[in-house]
Amino acid sequence: MRERMVIGNWKMNPPTIADAVELARSVADRIPAGVLVGVAPAAVALPAVSDALRDTNLDVYAQDVHWEERGAFTGQIAASMLRGLATGAIVGHSEVRRDQCDDDARVAKKLARTVTAGLRPILCVGESAAEHEAGNASVVIVRQIAADLAEAPRRGLQRLVVAYEPIWAIGTGNPATGEWATLEVRAIRAALKHAGLDAEAIPILYGGSVSARSVAEFAAADGIDGALVGGASLDPDEFAAIVRAFG
Ligand code: PEP
Repeated sequence: MRERMVIGNWKMNPPTIADAVELARSVADRIPAGVLVGVAPAAVALPAVSDALRDTNLDVYAQDVHWEERGAFTGQIAASMLRGLATGAIVGHSEVRRDQCDDDARVAKKLARTVTAGLRPILCVGESAAEHEAGNASVVIVRQIAADLAEAPRRGLQRLVVAYEPIWAIGTGNPATGEWATLEVRAIRAALKHAGLDAEAIPILYGGSVSARSVAEFAAADGIDGALVGGASLDPDEFAAIVRAFG
């Protein structure tokens, strides 16, 4: 049986490190057992949040990681710097792809670095609105999976998590339907299998405007094992309701 998992991506929120610690504590107080739950605070808040969550069952993830281990990369974070602070890292989020011009070649190197550093990767893939409207979603996703897995040692991918995040659904208040996400998750599993991985063992999350109101159809969908939650993860009660849906 695959793990069920809900991860809150806090993006560039909340405004201060003290607020991040308070949010982390509020979330930890509300989390039921039985689902793996993590939060991904901004890099600068990782030490304080990780400290605050030390004796809880809430995991901490980084929002990104650089592909190199050391060097002249101003503003970036090496995987080794996350040691003791994070269980894993989000890799290939569409906002990072957009803002840092990350292509699949860079995402592949980031994924490889994440797994060789012993961090659990959450690899994000998903089609743009234009690709969606052109009917190319599955083709795009399958291509992303193949390219993004190209560099990582297969042995390191045993703990891989994939998040299907259609870009047109992120932050829009307009989630995909459970039916649509099920089809794309099926395409992702086929691509994982094609890449030589044990696809049936790999959790696949849905992300894109998941809320307490919309979560039920994803939690009930065949093959969807959890959610990557942005905006709604900043409200501890709403986030806890999303977690409970996967419990
Ligand atoms: C995300 O950024 O991964 C995300 C899914 O955001 P939101 O839930 O706000 O759409």
